[in-house]
Amino acid sequence: MILCVAEIRHGKLVNTAFELLTAAKALGQPVAAAVVGGAATAAAADTLKARGFEKVFVASHAGLEGQADEAYAHATAAIVAQAKPQVVLLPASGQWRAVAPRLAVLLGTGLASDVVEVSGTAEQVQVTRSTYGGNMLVKLAVKGSPALVTVRPMAYSRTEASGAGAVENVAVDPAAWKVRTRVTEFAPEATTEVDLAAAEKVVSGGRGLGNPQGFELIRKLAHTLGAAVGASRATVDAGWIPYRHQVGLTGRTVRPRLYIACGISGQIQHLAGMSASDVIVAINTDKDCPMMKLANLAVHGDLYEVLPAIIAEVQKIRGEAPAMAGAK
Ligand SMILES: Cc1cc2nc3c(=O)[nH]c(=O)nc-3n(C[C@H](O)[C@H](O)[C@H](O)COP(=O)(O)OP(=O)(O)OC[C@H]3O[C@@H](n4cnc5c(N)ncnc54)[C@H](O)[C@@H]3O)c2cc1C
Repeated sequence: MILCVAEIRHGKLVNTAFELLTAAKALGQPVAAAVVGGAATAAAADTLKARGFEKVFVASHAGLEGQADEAYAHATAAIVAQAKPQVVLLPASGQWRAVAPRLAVLLGTGLASDVVEVSGTAEQVQVTRSTYGGNMLVKLAVKGSPALVTVRPMAYSRTEASGAGAVENVAVDPAAWKVRTRVTEFAPEATTEVDLAAAEKVVSGGRGLGNPQGFELIRKLAHTLGAAVGASRATVDAGWIPYRHQVGLTGRTVRPRLYIACGISGQIQHLAGMSASDVIVAINTDKDCPMMKLANLAVHGDLYEVLPAIIAEVQKIRGEAPAMAGAK
């Protein structure tokens, strides 16, 4: 059996569970979900069993509401003891990246982290991940049983399925565990921006913007379309925009329905994070650059002319006020 860990974040099930389901199915074994937490586990389990997981193992306890990594590792180990999977797939999210090594130590098994592809069989799982600062992709076999693998969010598309799986409860007692950390507060980042990782539309800016002020125009188009703002590493390294916006091998992987690349040449490390987008639009002064070749729609021109024209057209269609001029 392959066990996929479903994350609950701020009381809500995170969709990475259905990306892990896609990855797990390739290994040709029955797939179950594991869900750990407090009161929110019941609704999460209902969703998981109705959307393609044959079995859902639930470790629920009021003492797990605080989301301490050590407690989550113990609770997941209890699920593993009951479910006896050959492979455990976990989301490579902030929380589960911290839980996974603790779980590997508790189970005395091997862990491959931040994986972009899972292959092989349940008995001998192979994984692909980047190494040497993103310069190389390596294929690894994971030693130990069960094999633990954290999978990069958006590396796989989500399985859209319906079903009638069964729920199995796993008894846990947080008081029995040695847990040295306690979550005292959660302070959400103050932002009105669309979340890049989950965005259906992304507008990304590259070095072709020429200066940091150029991102005002990117933000304006993103706001007009209800899209998230992405960026190439060149702009992040230049300090034009924070790292959380970076798309690519050493940034985020995105899989939107629409990706608009403005002044981005399309080097392989950038493409690694966005080439699975459904529709790619490139706006570039170099008609022969890799991004223009990859794009479904390649607009050959100066982004400072093209973007204001797109914004004005969208606003005209919607009957809104005319767009501001771009900042060059
Ligand atoms: C280990 C490693 C990891 C990396 N990880 C990443 C990563 O995660 N993400 C990432 O993005 N990069 C990554 N890189 C860097 C990557 O190799 C490229 O250097 C980077 O993506 C280039 O960014 P860019 O396309 O914005 O800049 P450039 O390659 O300089 O391209 C700028 C583009 O803008 C166009 N242009 C210029 N002026 C205009 C204008 N007025 N209007 C329209 N177009 C214009 C140019 O024709 C050009 O195509 C990594 C590199 C290494 C070595």
